[in-house]
Amino acid sequence: MPTRNAVDPAVAPVILSVSNGDGRRADDGVDATLASIFGGGGMLSRALPGFRFRPQQLAMAQAVAQAIAVRGQLVAEAGTGTGKTFAYLVPALLYGGKVIVSTGTKTLQDQLYERDIPLLRDALAVPVTIAVLKGRANYVCHHHLERTAGEGGDRAELADVPENASIWPLVTSTRDNCLGANCAFHKDCFVLKARKDALDADVVVVNHHLFFADVMLRDEGLAELLPACNTVILDEAHQLPDTATLFFGEQTTAGQLSELARDAEIAARTAARDVPQLPDAAADIVPALRKVRLAAGEAPGKFTQETIAARSGFTEALDELAAGLDRLATEMQHCAERSEDLASIARRADDAAARLARWRSGLAEGQDGAAGEWIRWVDVTPQGWQLQASPLSVADVFRRQVESTARAWIFTSATLAVARDFSHYTQLLGLAEAATGCWDSPFDYPAQGLLYVPRDLPPPNTREHTEAVVDAALPVLKASGGRAFILFTTLRALAIARERLAVAFARDGLDFPLLVQGDGSKTELLVRFRTLSNAVLLGSASFWEGVDVPGDALSLVVIDKLPFAPPDDPILAARLDKLKADGGNPFVDWQIPQAAISLKQGAGRLIRTETDRGVLMICDPRLTDKPYGRRIWQSLPPMRRTRELQDAVAFFAVARAAEAHVTMNADFAAG
Ligand code: SF4
Repeated sequence: MPTRNAVDPAVAPVILSVSNGDGRRADDGVDATLASIFGGGGMLSRALPGFRFRPQQLAMAQAVAQAIAVRGQLVAEAGTGTGKTFAYLVPALLYGGKVIVSTGTKTLQDQLYERDIPLLRDALAVPVTIAVLKGRANYVCHHHLERTAGEGGDRAELADVPENASIWPLVTSTRDNCLGANCAFHKDCFVLKARKDALDADVVVVNHHLFFADVMLRDEGLAELLPACNTVILDEAHQLPDTATLFFGEQTTAGQLSELARDAEIAARTAARDVPQLPDAAADIVPALRKVRLAAGEAPGKFTQETIAARSGFTEALDELAAGLDRLATEMQHCAERSEDLASIARRADDAAARLARWRSGLAEGQDGAAGEWIRWVDVTPQGWQLQASPLSVADVFRRQVESTARAWIFTSATLAVARDFSHYTQLLGLAEAATGCWDSPFDYPAQGLLYVPRDLPPPNTREHTEAVVDAALPVLKASGGRAFILFTTLRALAIARERLAVAFARDGLDFPLLVQGDGSKTELLVRFRTLSNAVLLGSASFWEGVDVPGDALSLVVIDKLPFAPPDDPILAARLDKLKADGGNPFVDWQIPQAAISLKQGAGRLIRTETDRGVLMICDPRLTDKPYGRRIWQSLPPMRRTRELQDAVAFFAVARAAEAHVTMNADFAAG
């Protein structure tokens, strides 16, 4: 057995509390085994070229093993480069029993299933079986397309048909229109086969949407998966509060209802031709949907139920839609015994009518009693709308799920804590008993990165501010040779910056290609950015996370202002009101931690490997002028800090000379 590596106290986890205090601990043998796997000259270094010992990774793996041993909850923040995926996979594969790994994105889901888990399974020689489970929209449905679409039916294998092709909704199933056990294709169904594989496998890789829809809510017939599992690992766990809010809520959307109307009309024309009122009842839904959209007003946006109900004609349009749905449900019920399709549509119409009634009941109930626990709001898009009912807090319902059976829960991400304080996150999810651990990135941030906050910028939220951001960024862009992301908190600011930068580039003879969010898909823009090697990419929220551009192609990240969530968001506004009513301070307890975590995500785009170098430029004077600014910048990786343009320019001028002297500015000296 290889000897155990000494763990540097500097990277030892910050364990604030330990759940399930039954005194059980992973034994020293487990720690030693993990050290022999992760350590210098250990099993992974021998099996994987390029693998090297990172004490943070070993420490996190030992904490994960400990959580598995006591069936506890661990909230683990691991900085970029820690290697957190292996840190949770190794103990999970060795000691986790039946494991569910859930990720925030399909990309990471595929990476785990296709690369990381098979790699570790072979390196560790553990004979585990692995399955991947995606949402049902990813599997071709025989019933909706009476033909086979290749072995396995996973649309990832149908690479020639674009992800967003309009054909997909017609050849895949939804929870609403799946016939389940009554389907003639039941035996050959790709969705059911994928689920069976998942039930049989030792390790199942899912994504958060599926996790909540299928496992937590038991909506799609996977009730057996969670009870059988011993360990749940939630990667990219910073997304969970939002995903949980979405899935513990209820939606009625124009898209759902127009699909229902379409399916009802088709079914009526094929299985109930002698009942002319059926297609009529279905067809009447579509104009009613349009009326609701018209009454919602021209401007897209998110509005509280109260606001939207005050708009002329909105309540009447909903009345009409509700009457139409009731009629459709009644007509369908009369014919339901004729075919499984008609029965299924009758159920859907019933469900939709009931959901709409529940949403509307909020109008009468006001915000008192049980209705006060829900936020009812509407998301108006250019063409459609969604009626949403969101829980004011997901903490209780999530905690109940976590505590329902003894199993280990691992929550991990690079961004969960605010200056090492996890309380905001654990309160959101009701994880008061969870152990928490924070492992810093092994990168040499003081040498690899520089945080530059320019002086004398106008207050944010003004046009002058955006113009000043562009002007301040220009000399830094010249020094970096492009190779930059400029990230904005609003699309309006992005548009202003685009115009001003284009003019400045033309005026100064700079040939940096300007890539702008919206001019192509995110994937296309990133491919072009990496290939061009001197591009400047302007983006907003969607580029703040999940973007990985290692190497020189990205050497400068400019952030226009602190990413405080817009307070006009109905969910946020209601939660802040509740916090205030309970005696809390919404700004300190909610908005600052949220902004710090978002900023950390945006900043995390810059240094992706241990040889990356770059400047993070944050153009918000509040970072240095306001007392809360310090709490925010202390959450960022420990880069050197400056307010001087010449330091930022010099950072690039000295190229790889990591020892370049940068004077620490007095504004930061106290930190
Ligand atoms: S069981 Fe559902 S998903 Fe499977 S083929 Fe039938 S309708 Fe489609």
